[in-house]
Amino acid sequence: MATWKLLAGRAGRSLASLGGGPARYYQTENHDLTRLETSSAKTLMDIGTRRIFSSDHDIFRQSVRKFFQEAVVPHHAEWEKAGQVSRELWEKAGQQGLLGVNIAEEHGGIGGDLFSAAVVWEEQMYANCSGPGFSLHSDIVMPYIVNYGSKEQIKRFIPDMAAGKCIGAIAMTEPGAGSDLQGVRTFAKKDGSDWILNGSKVFITNGWMSDLVIVVAVTNREARSPAHGISLFLVENGMKGFIKGRKLEKIGLKAQDTAELFFEDVRLPASALLGQENKGFYYLMAELPQERLLIGDMAIASCEFMFEETRNYVKQRKAFGKTIAHLQTVQHKLAELKTQICIGRAFLDSCLLLHSGKRLDSATASMAKYWATDLQNNVATQCVQLHGGWGYMWEYPIAKSFVDARVQPIYGGTNEIMKELIARDIVSDK
Ligand SMILES: Cc1cc2nc3c(=O)[nH]c(=O)nc-3n(C[C@H](O)[C@H](O)[C@H](O)COP(=O)(O)OP(=O)(O)OC[C@H]3O[C@@H](n4cnc5c(N)ncnc54)[C@H](O)[C@@H]3O)c2cc1C
Repeated sequence: MATWKLLAGRAGRSLASLGGGPARYYQTENHDLTRLETSSAKTLMDIGTRRIFSSDHDIFRQSVRKFFQEAVVPHHAEWEKAGQVSRELWEKAGQQGLLGVNIAEEHGGIGGDLFSAAVVWEEQMYANCSGPGFSLHSDIVMPYIVNYGSKEQIKRFIPDMAAGKCIGAIAMTEPGAGSDLQGVRTFAKKDGSDWILNGSKVFITNGWMSDLVIVVAVTNREARSPAHGISLFLVENGMKGFIKGRKLEKIGLKAQDTAELFFEDVRLPASALLGQENKGFYYLMAELPQERLLIGDMAIASCEFMFEETRNYVKQRKAFGKTIAHLQTVQHKLAELKTQICIGRAFLDSCLLLHSGKRLDSATASMAKYWATDLQNNVATQCVQLHGGWGYMWEYPIAKSFVDARVQPIYGGTNEIMKELIARDIVSDK
């Protein structure tokens, strides 16, 4: 976290001499203000830019970039056909220290800061490889276990998750309940000290490959509101009655496994309850801002990738005897896109900084998610347009970015729900 240092200086003295008391100005101690922001950098994906990062993050970023280029990019087309990545990849990522980066070492994680975790998810977008569900596993599922799990649960799952030997998923959505999470029907009934789980979930990322799923279930149907009767359970692959349904066929995220899950009288021991009984909804509300932040940051990273891809394309594509980069309409479009992306980057970096100091509120995280993912779709549309017909061909990376972008305003809470959360805060009298 940044610490701020009070500096005495000329401005301070001159203001003080005006009788207004000692004026102060501040400088951050560990953020290097000489680092370029992306608007001034040679490319939007340059290593060594953005003041939220340090030279240590740059070294880490170099190794993560290399990992995605060598271990992911060459296999991605094959994984798109298979509808999933390989298990070997997860273990490779674990060996490389890319899973659970922002989970404390004492819990079995890597012990890096939030910015290091952001490096991993941003680099995945820069590689334009949406297959590996690393960010969901590392930065959504693992934090639930660390924040609400018992010592035994942490010890049992976190080291294996960091090693890529145990793949995590979270199952909230049901065929009849998505935006309205309080409408979930999956039910866990007490039986002695055990629980009996019944219900089904849909659209679950990493669902097909999952070894461990956090399942959202109703545990008290008589609660004064549904939010007071929901709990979280750790359900393991292989448990009797836990059935994986179809690997769903999607229009994008082709190499990411998204599945239906069914629970038919799954007997869960008391130790499968995550946190306290009937507190599940509060845990979800507390963790969702991080999910929304990472979706927003991935959206801006994807914009940065698409922009560079398109800049390269228009500089070599010829029409009417010169490259299309010579056309003023194309230049203006690129100017608009770059400006919008850099503005988005500034807001997202500010959100990352806030979150690293545990000061990112739910409404601000919702703004980041909604605005950045809408921008991503707009940038994707414009960049495909600048590629002409080739932009519609799967062999061109921009086509993949375009279809992958479409889901971003839908999952993690739809952008309409984000606006609800932002608006609630605006009109609240509290
Ligand atoms: C590829 C993919 C991966 C996913 N991964 C996961 C996962 O890992 N785990 C998980 O639990 N879920 C996951 N989801 C589910 C996702 O979070 C939901 O699809 C999403 O929350 C929307 O729910 P829904 O599909 O039921 O849409 P609905 O809730 O039925 O919404 C339909 C439309 O109505 C609008 N709407 C609904 N309520 C309101 C309202 N109050 N005000 C204004 N508009 C409203 C919505 O914005 C949307 O436009 C994933 C989905 C996809 C597509």
